Amino acid sequence: MKKLTFAISILLLIIALLFVMDRLLHAQARKAIPKDVCINNLRYIDGAKQLWALENKKPTNSVPSEKEILPYMGRNIQKFSSCPLGGKYSLNAVWQAPTCTVTNHVLP
Ligand SMILES: [Zn+2]
Repeated sequence: MKKLTFAISILLLIIALLFVMDRLLHAQARKAIPKDVCINNLRYIDGAKQLWALENKKPTNSVPSEKEILPYMGRNIQKFSSCPLGGKYSLNAVWQAPTCTVTNHVLP
């Protein structure tokens, strides 16, 4: 009987450890997401900026306004609602990538 109780205790301990490891791994995965979301937003904004410049024959040093590139965002207008970590976007000139004020939220 004692052996069985000991075996069950060890089994419960292993299950508890697996549960804790799973929670920790999920917490780490969640941390990585806002940065990816932001970089994806920057990618959409950059694409809209390029389309705006091409269609309106703008030189590469021109800086569009948010209003000017909105029509080129298509279904991704909500991407302008900015960075999930509260950073602010700068559209920058056509030849430059748009940027976020949060460190390391940079288009590759
Ligand atoms: Zn950001």
